[in-house]
Amino acid sequence: LAEGEALASALEGRGALVADREPFDAALAVTCAVTGPAEAKARRLIRRLRSRFPGIPIVACGCAAQAAAEDLRRAGADAVVGNRLKAGIPDLLERLLSGEAPSDPLRVDGLFPMSPWDDLPLDRPRMHQRAFVRIQEGCDRACSYCIVPRLRGPSIFRDPRAVAEELRRVVASGCSEAVLTGVCLAGNGENLAEILRVASRVPGLRRLRLGSLEPFAVDPELLAILADGPFCPHLHLPLQSGDSGILERMRRGYTPADFASLVREVRRRLGEEVHVGTDLLVGYPGEDDGAFERSLALCEELRFGRIHVFPFSPRRGTDAASAGDRLPPEILRERVSRASALGTKLLSTYAERFVGREVEVLAERTRQGCLLGLTPHYLRACLVGEGKPGDYVSGRAAREERGTLLAEGARRFLGEMLE
Ligand code: SF4
Repeated sequence: LAEGEALASALEGRGALVADREPFDAALAVTCAVTGPAEAKARRLIRRLRSRFPGIPIVACGCAAQAAAEDLRRAGADAVVGNRLKAGIPDLLERLLSGEAPSDPLRVDGLFPMSPWDDLPLDRPRMHQRAFVRIQEGCDRACSYCIVPRLRGPSIFRDPRAVAEELRRVVASGCSEAVLTGVCLAGNGENLAEILRVASRVPGLRRLRLGSLEPFAVDPELLAILADGPFCPHLHLPLQSGDSGILERMRRGYTPADFASLVREVRRRLGEEVHVGTDLLVGYPGEDDGAFERSLALCEELRFGRIHVFPFSPRRGTDAASAGDRLPPEILRERVSRASALGTKLLSTYAERFVGREVEVLAERTRQGCLLGLTPHYLRACLVGEGKPGDYVSGRAAREERGTLLAEGARRFLGEMLE
């Protein structure tokens, strides 16, 4: 999302009109490869674009482009651009639009050795009312299931001054909420702390959030920064499993007990009401009934809010992909559905504490007198009243439904995902 926004910004800077409505003169597919289905979706997207628009230039970038460039080329892309080479995409599209054939249709070799920051500055948000600002790229860890380090290269943080400059631009465009994102917000903790310090001082920022934050990155200094200034009371800390054996095989570098004491510390420093969300990877090879139950029990004990549940998906070249003790698909499906149901229940329980209270949203969408947005605690809320997307609007939450807060008379916006 952050890269899509930044690419849209770069293309508009060249005079392109960026929209997801047809007709297109050219198409840019920003792809993902974190799971097998995500990679398959990228191939389907390119095939669909090629069959609907046979004559237009199509460029693919992102992790599926890095992982399976030839596949995307066969699916119909004219050029495939690797990670950390995306800053060259506006030039490439311009040349393709002028009828020039790409000299190198598979430009995926820029990842190694470590390339500098792929400079794609953002001027204003386009797809949301809040701005997704990239502060980090790549990963130095080696979690056994994860393909990301191979596709994104080593960890690199953005220069804090460039982050501050981008935030100032975003504020000047009229947006006062930003999410600082990265592939692995951990790495050298000092870099992260410095960026957060600098970002929190940008005048005019009303709300600042962090994307997914690796638990091993959280230390007292970081919590002290997050406890102050415009940071929202919400952290997303990926747990992945609540079983010590599975965590060890995943090479996550913490035990369930470490994670539990981290969450307690987060609540102690940021307040009991802070929303702690997580990722749960279900069905890792060798996850027996006991390991799965321990994961669910830890999620209940830690009173998470939003839980993103991912079924294990073997990724080429990772250690976990060659592990033999894989779960049968029907058991995997059942575990995903139980974990998701628990996630819904825990999110509702978390949201209930706001019922009867005044909440404020940054309105993302409006429909029939209702405004939908996110509260500082990262809860979806539908309020009733005047306002347009981009406005901060307050109202009393009268009830909650599956984790969404609703004002009296408000109807739930079905299918409206804001994350
Ligand atoms: S820290 Fe995150 S990005 Fe890095 S290997 Fe582990 S799961 Fe992948």
